[in-house]
Amino acid sequence: MIRQYELVERVKKYDPKADESLLNRAYVFSMKAHGAQLRASGDPYFSHPLEVAGILTNMRLDYHTIVTALLHDTIEDTVATVEEIEELFGKKIAELVDGVTKLSRLELQTDTAREAENFRKFLLALSNDIRVLLVKLADRLHNMRTLHHIDSEDKRQRIARETMEIYAPLAERIGMRAMKDELEDIAFKELNPEAYDTIMQRLKFLRKEGKNIKSSIARQIRETLKKENIKADVSGREKSPYSIWTKMEREHITFEQLSDIMAFRVVVGDTRECYEALGVIHRKWSMIPGQFDDYISTPKRNRYQSIHTAVIGPRKLRIEIQIRTREMHEIAESGVAAHWHYKQGTKKSEKRHYQWIQDFLEILDQASTTEEFLEHTKMEMFQDQVFCFTPKGELISLPRGSTPVDFAYAVHTAVGDSCVGAKVNGRVVPLRHQLENGDGVEIIRSRSRKPSPRWQNFVVTGKARSAIRRYVNKSERKEFQALGKSILERAFQRLDLEFSNSAVAEGLENLTLKKVEDIYVLLGQGNLTHREVMRAIFPGTKFKYNPKARRVFFWRGSKKSKQDDPIPIQGLTPGMAVNLSECCHPLPGDRIVGHMTAGKGVDVHTLDCETLTDLPDDPDRLIDLSWRDTPDKTDSKLYAGRVKAVMANESGVLADIASIVARQGGNISNLIISERDPEFFTMLIDIEVKNDKHLTSIITALRAMKLISRVDRMRG
Ligand code: MN
Repeated sequence: MIRQYELVERVKKYDPKADESLLNRAYVFSMKAHGAQLRASGDPYFSHPLEVAGILTNMRLDYHTIVTALLHDTIEDTVATVEEIEELFGKKIAELVDGVTKLSRLELQTDTAREAENFRKFLLALSNDIRVLLVKLADRLHNMRTLHHIDSEDKRQRIARETMEIYAPLAERIGMRAMKDELEDIAFKELNPEAYDTIMQRLKFLRKEGKNIKSSIARQIRETLKKENIKADVSGREKSPYSIWTKMEREHITFEQLSDIMAFRVVVGDTRECYEALGVIHRKWSMIPGQFDDYISTPKRNRYQSIHTAVIGPRKLRIEIQIRTREMHEIAESGVAAHWHYKQGTKKSEKRHYQWIQDFLEILDQASTTEEFLEHTKMEMFQDQVFCFTPKGELISLPRGSTPVDFAYAVHTAVGDSCVGAKVNGRVVPLRHQLENGDGVEIIRSRSRKPSPRWQNFVVTGKARSAIRRYVNKSERKEFQALGKSILERAFQRLDLEFSNSAVAEGLENLTLKKVEDIYVLLGQGNLTHREVMRAIFPGTKFKYNPKARRVFFWRGSKKSKQDDPIPIQGLTPGMAVNLSECCHPLPGDRIVGHMTAGKGVDVHTLDCETLTDLPDDPDRLIDLSWRDTPDKTDSKLYAGRVKAVMANESGVLADIASIVARQGGNISNLIISERDPEFFTMLIDIEVKNDKHLTSIITALRAMKLISRVDRMRG
């Protein structure tokens, strides 16, 4: 065990301004709090926080971090409270300790890879101070070092898996390479002991064989560089057992085939020398193509910088070489932890060089709230994401600005397709609502619902967008195709010609199209006229059309309707593309009229829709339509009606509306707040109902609500 004065001395060495008495008090407090508790190893429990603190002094972290490490298990495992810690050690320390405690309480729900990735990000998002994460990682490292003391194999395996999936990648993410390697190797040894032993035996054998290989190659590299006046520290190392194993797995090779077990590191003075050294090395030994990476000009996201190359080196051995400056080296080894080294006393000339570190530290120091930290640092990589939970606790990561529809599609395409509403943290929200970090999201689904083209206006994920577009295109295309076909069929009939797909196919070449279906779709969309198609099929033939017949041409109602006809409206050609318009939301029972648009098919409006008065006066385009009577029992199809409601701006009003609508058998499919002031807000509510009477009864029920001042059906 590290003694009290030793610990303080270690910190003082690199952080002369450290608060000595705070360190001493934390040491004593933790020792007393843990009292007679024992570790699985039989050691006093206090040895654990002390070792964790020791790991962090090796990274030369500030004394706040060290104090936090000493206290990190006191809240969870002893009678100490956050309040007590705040009283004794101040607000900052209490926050840090509380942060570590919270991270420790989070449990991984399942161990699929996707979840692990999300869980890592979530840990990062919750570590509102990077030091919380550093203490948590050091805690895990010490627990891994003492893993073999745990008797239960299941428990050891679980901890090792968690380390592999969560903590090692996290260490890598924040640039702590040495910690990542050690965590991985211990976990590897636990999870796959045979593989670990095999690799270790091979490594031992190699070490015996080429006792001096490593140092002799390093010496040759050093001397080669020296001849060109480049002074460099060159060191060789074996790759870690786990990285050897993953490479064997990844490239499907045996240990014998794996020739670059050795990696050499060339550390030089400045960036210019890095490139000079690279030139010298490549001139002397031939490089292996495909293994070169320049992370100096393009640093990794965790700020890692180095040039990586592989060459056929001395003794014709394949070796890997990393070239970097001293600063890059320190950052590569201990990542963000290295940044504290530069906090004090950098020379002016070097200051600009470390500007990003300075910025980073300033943000760390100033960001007092979690939110601020999320905004400004979040180590940049997670600023653009939000993390939300399913009701079962599964974590879903989404781009910032995502809506419940994006969430639904991220869970499963089928969930997205049938989504009609959403609850966020138990409250009903509009589908265009933007989700926030940590939201619990429940998707309300309905089997009779289909994706709405309107969603395209607010979804942000590619998955949602393409699923909606695919659905919309597919259904539209089918309708256009049927419409186009019937148009052409009529044209053939009127000219007493025999209609068939093969007859139509004659026109493909002249129209430069590939499939007969394409002709129908273009016709249905209005992008081709039937005359153009007929001319293409029968080039040179002159047809006589009855001009009077033209207008009714498209709009003769058919006697037999197809069974899957989605909208029971009379007056349309079967299969015609039909949209129930968004302005007035016509419902069965309403008096309706059709308006034909080239390329879009027919828009159905209510007769009193205000939009109609704005349309160009063109009676040719208006079609008289009516709803087909369908027995109520069999017709379970729902239609979206829109109401405008003015309501008091009080909590719970939305939930009340939702429950009233639900009690009346309706579904809220969309909510849009159109105006809002401190006392009232106006909202457009789309409600799925069976027909106009159904909507009227819902409106009546809503009007009876105390908090609602006005409800009307929207008419354009
Ligand atoms: Mn611990």
